[in-house]
Amino acid sequence: MVQVVGLTKRFGEIDVVKDVDLSVRMGEKVAIIGPSGSGKTTLLRCVAHLERPTSGYVTIGGERIGEKLVNGRWREMSDREIARIRTGIGMVFQRFNLFPHLTALQNVMLGPTRVLKRSRAEAEPLARELLRKVGLAHKAADYPERLSGGQQQRVAIARSLAMQPRLMLFDEATSALDPELIGEVLNVMRDLARDGMTMLIVTHEMQFAEDVADRVVFMDHGRIVDEGPPHELFRSPSHPRTQAFLRAVV
Ligand code: ATP
Repeated sequence: MVQVVGLTKRFGEIDVVKDVDLSVRMGEKVAIIGPSGSGKTTLLRCVAHLERPTSGYVTIGGERIGEKLVNGRWREMSDREIARIRTGIGMVFQRFNLFPHLTALQNVMLGPTRVLKRSRAEAEPLARELLRKVGLAHKAADYPERLSGGQQQRVAIARSLAMQPRLMLFDEATSALDPELIGEVLNVMRDLARDGMTMLIVTHEMQFAEDVADRVVFMDHGRIVDEGPPHELFRSPSHPRTQAFLRAVV
């Protein structure tokens, strides 16, 4: 479903992501962990082509994002072509970024009506179903300012799902939340994992990563230095840098 091939992203003089290869199968959940500044967010942003790789590339469902073959040569895609591929990728960030002047329901309906050109009659039942799924059916008519951070983040997840993505990217989706609100968002992510969604999850929630991920990837200084099934990586990390990181955070 996702192939990251020899991906490097340089900012100034620094390779923030260095020669990363990663493949994610359909339905697989991969957690990306690692110290602050190790390049996790940048890697995720490159997967969605929110950052253009300095070298290397990413394919989503077999299609390269950002470049296409024209007469045997790789050419840059237009913004419109990139946007088309991106509609298949749901993204949930630390900040919820809901539209403040739209209700929860309207926020969830916006993508399907504006981007997918669905009629309101088609989009509304799906949006209500998604709000129910994230436990917020009763908040459909509320504006974001009336919702807690956890509720806003759950609306943001419903909004991503409304685009019927084949891949979901989560970038520290709970790190801006008060501790008592983290669990409700993680539970929604757990449900999504159970439903078979392909998920790439940058997280500091080690227990969650251990419970949900099929595979955990440890990044340090822009490189993947360790990866494996969660019980192996967390219980008996072989790499000294993984050991040191886990000792510090768990
Ligand atoms: P955290 O866990 O703190 O979010 P991270 O592992 O996600 O960290 P990144 O956010 O990918 O790390 O950042 C890696 C490095 O790249 C940091 O040193 C950051 O300052 C730098 N960086 C990120 N984006 C840019 C940018 N647009 N321009 C310049 N430097 C950047």
